[in-house]
Amino acid sequence: MTIQTDVVIIGAGPVGLFQVFELGLQGLNSIIIDALPDPGGQCIELYPDKPIYDIPAVALCTGRELIDKLMEQIAPFEAPLHLDQTVDTLTRNSDDTFSLETSKGLQVECRAVIVAAGAGSFTPVKLRVDAIDKFEDKQIFYRVRKPAVHEGRNLVVLGGGDSAVDWALALADKAASITLVNRTERFRAAEASVEKLMALQESGKAKVLFGAVKGFAEQNGELSSVHCVLRDDAKSEIDLPVDDLLVFFGLSPKLGPVEDWGLALEKNMVTVDCATFETSEPGIYAVGDINTYPGKKKLILSGFHETAMAAHAIKYQFEPDKKQYTQYTTTSPLLQKRLGVKEGDA
Ligand code: FAD
Repeated sequence: MTIQTDVVIIGAGPVGLFQVFELGLQGLNSIIIDALPDPGGQCIELYPDKPIYDIPAVALCTGRELIDKLMEQIAPFEAPLHLDQTVDTLTRNSDDTFSLETSKGLQVECRAVIVAAGAGSFTPVKLRVDAIDKFEDKQIFYRVRKPAVHEGRNLVVLGGGDSAVDWALALADKAASITLVNRTERFRAAEASVEKLMALQESGKAKVLFGAVKGFAEQNGELSSVHCVLRDDAKSEIDLPVDDLLVFFGLSPKLGPVEDWGLALEKNMVTVDCATFETSEPGIYAVGDINTYPGKKKLILSGFHETAMAAHAIKYQFEPDKKQYTQYTTTSPLLQKRLGVKEGDA
């Protein structure tokens, strides 16, 4: 089945989310597609609990709070979110509409596309041990999608950030055994979580080691243990029996498929006309960290401004003969109807 919509927004970071709002005010429907399992882009992936101080009229909020507020603000427009899938192909049809297909086979047709892909799609930093990648998605996991599949198994968790520590805490009671291996004694995870982990170690429910995985052993085609070199003075070596290896070395952004869509690029960013935020391809717009133009600043507030400009430009693209007026949400009955705060036909 092919979904039809006015506009497809590629990327559910803060800027992609706010784009729904600006399009909605213009009376345009949109859907959002994102590679990640949750909306929020960098705010959720890189700094969910860290403070942001430069969102206008919000003196302080965390990355997660900003995304929660944006989700609340765009709720009236009911834009479907299609998560956990990358937009792989984007093609122009003979009638100047666009067809998109995602990694999960979702097909969408639309009249305009907004690329809000930030630094590209985030991909996990892989464990670099020769030939170990054959166990990926069988016994080596870079995300925990279904916690239940790890129950009753010998788990080794690699990493020292929030994901590694939080998953070690969440799975400790359910695993047959759990060992967290961090490169150094310093953790990047929240202090309170590290304290909980150390308490688990003291109670014998978890083991914490400092070192790195350098090799592995297999039995009957299955990963059976990982070989670690520890950071103690003797550089002692240890084999840890493992059923599932959970690796959380962080995420690195990759421009990925955006490179293949024929858009003019400058240093891996999409060049746009800063009056409309249209790219070199008519009907395809780019907002937020993915774009570049003279004076560009990679800030959330700059991205928000860009979404308003792009939404107006798209409205004009769809209805070139109709005069556009700047309307205020404070006073415009039409905008208030679209926002669902006033009765009537939007
Ligand atoms: P992103 O947040 O990068 O989101 C892009 C989304 O697009 C991602 O979710 C990605 O998965 C998705 N995507 C990419 N390619 C595809 C594809 N092909 N298919 C499907 N999905 C795709 N800015 C501020 O203004 N104030 C701050 O205080 C601040 N603090 C920061 C702190 C840190 C540690 C960092 C790293 C950044 C900070 N920033 C701050 C910058 C801010 O986070 C970015 O400017 C903002 O996230 C850009 O939003 P975006 O929506 O353009 O892109």
